[in-house]
Amino acid sequence: MDLGIAGRSALVCAASKGLGRACAVSLARAGAKVTIVARTEGPLNEAAADIAARTGASVTPVAADITTDAGRAAALAAAGDVDILVNNAGGPPPGNFRDWTRDDWIKAVDANMLTAIELIKATVDGMIARRFGRVVNITSSAVKAPIAILGLSNGARAGLTGFIAGIARETVIHNVTINNLLPGRFETDRLMNTLKAEADKTGQPLDAVAARHKAAIPAGRFGDPAEFGEACAFLCAAQAGYITGQNFLIDGGAFPGTL
Ligand code: NAP
Repeated sequence: MDLGIAGRSALVCAASKGLGRACAVSLARAGAKVTIVARTEGPLNEAAADIAARTGASVTPVAADITTDAGRAAALAAAGDVDILVNNAGGPPPGNFRDWTRDDWIKAVDANMLTAIELIKATVDGMIARRFGRVVNITSSAVKAPIAILGLSNGARAGLTGFIAGIARETVIHNVTINNLLPGRFETDRLMNTLKAEADKTGQPLDAVAARHKAAIPAGRFGDPAEFGEACAFLCAAQAGYITGQNFLIDGGAFPGTL
């Protein structure tokens, strides 16, 4: 399927690994010029070279912390006129809310709410002027089904979701859509590190911990990041101009509700 985005400029945040990288691959395969951002230069440059080699697309790496003003300025300068924005950043740590300080909350809100809002603020008026824009925010299934130990994530991402619900209805008349993609459990470094920590804590083998988590998912497996990337690329397609303000859960059926 031709997604109609060849030559469009895409800025994909937090994209040297995992879900962000998978989104960058799918957008590059659809012909977009992609700028990818991550903090650690080595893996970032390796990802850029790999995506360019696999897709033939132009891929520009920007080594920056996307949660900072300077990092966002560097990313925006490299990407030029942004037509497609994929917002993503590392998730906050788990814990007990009794231990979290105001600083912990500010960091979580900065990374998982305000960074996305700042990048939308910097790009949306250009998208409106050019009458094409696609914004996808990577959030979490925890927005729909909160996980108590991930309270920082539940809170910050719910804040972003509320903000998006309002603005997405204002921009769509200009062919600028804004949607959220909610990952369940995808096989990325982050997930594997969480499972390893659980295995170490409980003394169980890693395979047993992974099998227990997979058994709780109707699909019987973790998601492949490539599946997530393809869904992201579809939301960025020219054909997706009538989809806005939505929250798409991709979780192998794990959420048990009707809606
Ligand atoms: P991952 O495999 O650990 O990859 C994270 C990527 O983000 C890396 O490229 C990392 O590179 C980059 N990054 C992190 N913080 C950054 C920052 N401040 N500025 C720029 N780049 C940054 O993680 P993932 O599993 O893809 O998760 C992506 C997001 O989805 C996270 O917010 C996570 O909480 C959320 N999520 C994931 C799952 C899942 O099952 N995987 C489920 C629900 C929600 P550097 O470290 O070099 O910067």
